[in-house]
Amino acid sequence: MSTTPTATPDATPDAARTAGQAPQRYDAIIIGAGMSGMYQLHRLRALGMSVRVFEAGSGVGGTWYWNRYPGARFDSESWSYGYSFSDEILKAWDWTEHFAPQPETLRYLEFVADTLDLRRDITFDTRVRSAAFDDTAGLWRIETTTGLTAEARFLITAVGPLSAPTMPKLPGIDTFKGASYHTGLWPHHPVDFAGKRVAVIGTGASGVQTIQEVAKVAGHLTVFQRKPNWCAPLHNAKITPDEQRRIKASYDEIFARCRESHGCFIHKADPRKAMEVSPEAREAFYEKLYGEPGFGIWIGNFRDVLSDEAANATLTDFIARKIRARVKDPRIADKLIPKDHGFGTRRVPLETNYYEVYNQDNVELVDLRETPIERITETGIRTSDRDFAFDIIIYATGFDAVTGALDRIDVRGTGGLSLRQKWAEGPRTYLGLMTAGFPNLLTLVGPHNSATFCNIPRCIEQNVDWVTDLLRTMRDKGLTRVEATRDAEDAWTAHVIELGQKMLFTKVDSWFMGINSNVEGKQTRTFLLYSGGAPMYREKCDEVAARDYEGIALA
Ligand code: NAP
Repeated sequence: MSTTPTATPDATPDAARTAGQAPQRYDAIIIGAGMSGMYQLHRLRALGMSVRVFEAGSGVGGTWYWNRYPGARFDSESWSYGYSFSDEILKAWDWTEHFAPQPETLRYLEFVADTLDLRRDITFDTRVRSAAFDDTAGLWRIETTTGLTAEARFLITAVGPLSAPTMPKLPGIDTFKGASYHTGLWPHHPVDFAGKRVAVIGTGASGVQTIQEVAKVAGHLTVFQRKPNWCAPLHNAKITPDEQRRIKASYDEIFARCRESHGCFIHKADPRKAMEVSPEAREAFYEKLYGEPGFGIWIGNFRDVLSDEAANATLTDFIARKIRARVKDPRIADKLIPKDHGFGTRRVPLETNYYEVYNQDNVELVDLRETPIERITETGIRTSDRDFAFDIIIYATGFDAVTGALDRIDVRGTGGLSLRQKWAEGPRTYLGLMTAGFPNLLTLVGPHNSATFCNIPRCIEQNVDWVTDLLRTMRDKGLTRVEATRDAEDAWTAHVIELGQKMLFTKVDSWFMGINSNVEGKQTRTFLLYSGGAPMYREKCDEVAARDYEGIALA
């Protein structure tokens, strides 16, 4: 590996070449210019490496570039979400709300790209179609859908865990004559819902945010719900000038607090178990958390509510009562209350007046378990008992999570081994960052990596810093090849599965478990996350590095 761009014979920072020309050579190729790709580019540049990022979108930002649907915002406290590595950026950027909306977060990432002058090393509007490792040359060769080719010693995927949108497999889907949109592929132009007949299919976090916003202006909104999710209030607010000053003065403490918590949020689980306190004290604690902003009710709760069924049942009962109190029609409330899983065992959408939407005259809830969709028609949606007419259909139907974006690239390791095939029965990884048979491939925010269930910038920084240290060590030792051993991969995969078995969310169908009814081969539960928590994950990664990269063959 080179220490400077010139040390790799023909490394050059120019864009990759088009079809027919010899591929352009870099030290590293990064796929994706979202939060992880941007930071990785910045860190590798500082090592003196030549790096090229290929990005499918026309701008930086990844998730925040694509998910422009009405009401899109994160559930992390804004001031805990930004990059922590640069004082300059921390000082210069003012978040305006405690939970920033998508346009603000995208502006933030564009500001970071400007500040770090990242765009000159990013090729936009270019999707990587295939990546193959040439064992003899020790190089990854990539091909894009626009016909570009490029090669590099290292291939770093920064494709994001929720970036491969999936549409339902419904007959007639292309025949609809009105406008239709997927939340994760939202157009850049404004969409006017005023007075329109709008359908939303899907009630995950994207659906919930969309519904509560569209309901304000649509002439009529019909929500098509298959399984309800447990939602809880976000309690967003503007950041006052006083709060702004306090936030700016306490970034060190904020990030230190995040480092110590399971998912790197500011919320830390309560050390008590749910049954250790009286029913009255438990109720009062749930009430307090329900009234507070953010994920406290989910991850700042008693320490056993996500692992012990009886503890979980007390919380689930509390939230069910809240829903019944907020929705006037008891039959509608009943449809909105999940019966097949407890609170928090799937990703909890945070909401603002979501349940009250169903008290509005212009909103109707269709329970697809009673009357499934049969087809999309030219004019709308046909269920088993009715034809609905719409001007706009919104698909809030989610993503082929975590492995989906990698599956969409034809990744081939040694001997032409396909990553898609290797992971057909579920991912096998070492630290969620590499997989045997794929030398010099590093999967930021990959499966089995704590970053997939995290206040994600915090875990992205950890992933990127760890990878950067690895590449620096290799450079210093004159090493050019890195690959997880089978033994290490087997042990890590077993560790991930064993940890998962302690958690209630492995007993439930959701994207955490790799379930997506719209994707062939994704109907069997396979745990995609790392449930040991970010501190334990960080410790394991650091131990591996301290033991001369134990479990990793370096050559
Ligand atoms: P999701 O949670 O997977 O939800 C997809 C929804 O579409 C589910 O309600 C699902 O029903 C429904 N659906 C899928 N296929 C369907 C079909 N063929 N017919 C009818 N309904 C169908 O996806 P998402 O809402 O886009 O959220 C994904 C993740 O992105 C979230 O869990 C979260 O991690 C992240 N996200 C975060 C935020 C935030 O920070 N606030 C916002 C949005 C998304 P079933 O449940 O029955 O499958």
